[in-house]
Amino acid sequence: MPLYEYHCPACGHHFETLVRGGSNTQPKTCPQCGAAALEKAVSRIAPAGKIEAIRLANRRAAAAQGHFSHYSAAEQARLLKGKKL
Ligand SMILES: [Zn+2]
Repeated sequence: MPLYEYHCPACGHHFETLVRGGSNTQPKTCPQCGAAALEKAVSRIAPAGKIEAIRLANRRAAAAQGHFSHYSAAEQARLLKGKKL
Protein backbone atom coordinates (compact mmCIF):
# COMPACT_ATOMS: atom_id res chain seq x y z
CA MET A 1 0.00 0.00 0.00
CA PRO A 2 1.69 3.20 -1.10
CA LEU A 3 2.23 6.06 1.27
CA TYR A 4 1.72 9.45 -0.29
CA GLU A 5 2.73 12.82 1.02
CA TYR A 6 0.72 15.94 0.32
CA HIS A 7 1.47 19.59 0.73
CA CYS A 8 -1.15 22.31 1.04
CA PRO A 9 0.09 25.53 -0.58
CA ALA A 10 -2.71 27.50 1.08
CA CYS A 11 -1.70 26.91 4.72
CA GLY A 12 1.61 25.08 4.38
CA HIS A 13 0.26 21.96 6.05
CA HIS A 14 2.20 18.82 5.19
CA PHE A 15 0.68 15.42 5.74
CA GLU A 16 0.94 11.86 4.51
CA THR A 17 -1.70 9.27 3.94
CA LEU A 18 -2.00 5.68 2.85
CA VAL A 19 -3.79 5.39 -0.46
CA ARG A 20 -5.80 2.24 -0.94
CA GLY A 21 -6.47 1.06 -4.44
CA GLY A 22 -6.59 3.89 -6.89
CA SER A 23 -6.66 7.60 -7.34
CA ASN A 24 -10.28 7.99 -6.29
CA THR A 25 -9.28 7.45 -2.66
CA GLN A 26 -6.69 10.23 -2.61
CA PRO A 27 -7.48 13.16 -0.34
CA LYS A 28 -9.05 16.06 -2.19
CA THR A 29 -8.94 18.71 0.49
CA CYS A 30 -6.48 19.81 3.14
CA PRO A 31 -7.43 18.31 6.53
CA GLN A 32 -6.27 21.48 8.25
CA CYS A 33 -7.77 24.33 6.23
CA GLY A 34 -10.01 22.57 3.71
CA ALA A 35 -8.31 24.02 0.64
CA ALA A 36 -8.91 21.96 -2.48
CA ALA A 37 -5.57 22.57 -4.19
CA LEU A 38 -3.28 19.91 -2.80
CA GLU A 39 0.16 19.22 -4.16
CA LYS A 40 1.37 15.66 -4.13
CA ALA A 41 4.81 15.68 -2.59
CA VAL A 42 7.65 13.40 -3.55
CA SER A 43 7.30 9.95 -2.07
CA ARG A 44 9.72 8.85 0.59
CA ILE A 45 10.40 5.65 -1.30
CA ALA A 46 13.89 5.95 -2.72
CA PRO A 47 14.21 5.90 -6.50
CA ALA A 48 15.54 2.69 -8.03
CA GLY A 49 18.96 4.16 -8.75
CA LYS A 50 19.40 5.17 -5.15
CA ILE A 51 18.32 1.76 -3.88
CA GLU A 52 20.93 0.15 -6.12
CA ALA A 53 23.60 2.50 -4.76
CA ILE A 54 22.63 1.64 -1.19
CA ARG A 55 22.67 -2.07 -2.00
CA LEU A 56 26.14 -1.84 -3.56
CA ALA A 57 27.44 0.17 -0.60
CA ASN A 58 26.11 -2.47 1.81
CA ARG A 59 27.73 -5.21 -0.22
CA ARG A 60 31.08 -3.38 -0.24
CA ALA A 61 30.87 -2.90 3.53
CA ALA A 62 30.03 -6.56 4.06
CA ALA A 63 32.87 -7.69 1.80
CA ALA A 64 35.31 -5.44 3.67
CA GLN A 65 34.30 -7.29 6.84
CA GLY A 66 34.74 -10.66 5.18
CA HIS A 67 31.09 -11.43 4.55
CA PHE A 68 30.39 -12.62 1.06
CA SER A 69 26.90 -13.95 1.56
CA HIS A 70 25.41 -11.00 -0.33
CA TYR A 71 27.18 -12.13 -3.46
CA SER A 72 26.23 -14.93 -5.80
CA ALA A 73 28.49 -17.98 -6.01
CA ALA A 74 29.97 -16.77 -9.28
CA GLU A 75 30.62 -13.32 -7.85
CA GLN A 76 32.23 -14.82 -4.75
CA ALA A 77 34.59 -16.90 -6.89
CA ARG A 78 35.67 -13.81 -8.82
CA LEU A 79 36.09 -11.76 -5.64
CA LEU A 80 38.20 -14.46 -4.02
CA LYS A 81 40.51 -14.35 -7.04
CA GLY A 82 40.89 -10.64 -6.43
CA LYS A 83 38.97 -9.55 -9.50
CA LYS A 84 36.57 -6.70 -9.61
CA LEU A 85 32.95 -7.46 -10.39
ZN1 LIG B 1 -4.24 23.69 4.13
